Amino acid sequence: MADATAMLRSASIVRKQQSSVVVVSATFGTTDKIIRAAESAENGNMSSAETILADIQEQHMAIAEELGVSKATLKNIRELIETMESLLSDLARSNDQTKLLKDALFGIGEGLSSRLFTDCLALNDVPAHWFDAGRVIRTDDRFSRATPIFDEVEQLVKELLDPLIQNGASKKTMVTQGFIGSTKSGVRTTLGRGGSDYSAAILAWALHADALEIWTDVGGVATTDPRITQNARPIRELSFQEAAELATFGAKILHPATLIPAIWREIPVFVGSSIQPDTGGTWIYRDVGEAPLVRALAIRRNQSLLTITTPDMLHTYGFLHKIFEVFNNHHVSVDSITTSEISVAMTVDDITLEDHDMIRDLEELGRLNIEKSYELVSLIGNNINHTAGLAQKVFTDLSDMNVRMICQGASKHNFCFLVDEGRGEEAIRRLHATLIEGEEMFIKSTDV
Ligand code: ASP
Ligand code: MG
Repeated sequence: MADATAMLRSASIVRKQQSSVVVVSATFGTTDKIIRAAESAENGNMSSAETILADIQEQHMAIAEELGVSKATLKNIRELIETMESLLSDLARSNDQTKLLKDALFGIGEGLSSRLFTDCLALNDVPAHWFDAGRVIRTDDRFSRATPIFDEVEQLVKELLDPLIQNGASKKTMVTQGFIGSTKSGVRTTLGRGGSDYSAAILAWALHADALEIWTDVGGVATTDPRITQNARPIRELSFQEAAELATFGAKILHPATLIPAIWREIPVFVGSSIQPDTGGTWIYRDVGEAPLVRALAIRRNQSLLTITTPDMLHTYGFLHKIFEVFNNHHVSVDSITTSEISVAMTVDDITLEDHDMIRDLEELGRLNIEKSYELVSLIGNNINHTAGLAQKVFTDLSDMNVRMICQGASKHNFCFLVDEGRGEEAIRRLHATLIEGEEMFIKSTDV
């Protein structure tokens, strides 16, 4: 939500949908600003941090004024700004607490927006109640990328949030913050950038919600990123499995992995446009009416291909276990993998290579070869692993491209391969034209 108008638009969505719990993220651009302010403070540049803070204050005060929020809410907003100010000056002074201070800071964007939005609802005939997400989203203490502790979250939600949710005349919509959590000892954490969708999915899961609706400027899931080809078209229905295989949703990035807790409990998920709420969006269900061979095409940039070669692998077991133990210890996720008798090739995000300890641990297992900056192109659909002729069709379309690694077979729903940096979009445009726009290749698979 960028401004008062966006808040009012969102309030009418909540009224129409009769939502029980609303999870808000920070207003547009605010988290970025807070991060910049924190960086300035850390570098000892308090005056720049103060300037950014003043900007944040002004933006939120303008919304408050336009909405006509209560005195109590104005007071909350002022207090949050003061808290930010003192955290920033602590940050300028402290060396050992920086991660902790930063997470406390980062989450304040959601504090501000949730206070404003609670009032915005109340002023628009939706009785609403503000709720601190830190009370129920229990996490570990990996600051900035904290992991929820699901069984504790479930327990806390049952104790603290569920009883507040009522229906009928006494119903109040609970408004809470996305992105933030807290540790057992009450220290604030955040779940990683874009984490509000994840928060919503976690709460939907813990509450056994009837549905999870994500209203964003993404406006539903498209067959591919519309910035890559203007022929991308909206997808009305998607299965949980297809959603889980999609690397990115739509133009702005919405990580489907964030929906996974909802998918565990088979809670239908809707992704719609908060800007044009009536244009329809995408429903993600367990059972979908139509299961095309290729539903969507996704790209994941900045991928490194790591190959570990060692004769030790020959006729032994446990080698993959050792490799994955390293990734596990360093919290790195591997997206795709292929193996031969004596080597294993895997893709990871380029950024994970900054973890030098991880590289050292992998080097201990064999000869490590690293090739950076590939792009991973994925086809997401149904029966994609045993449809005769698909691979041939794909690679005929891309015959002039260097395809470095191919992953097919692990999933009925995904087929992916690596191409050189800068070639992924062209690959997607060609495949979109033949496999998605070209009706004759839009094979309806029956056995899903
Ligand atoms: N405000 C946080 C961010 O910008 C979380 C979110 O928007 O989902 O990353
Ligand atoms: Mg966001």
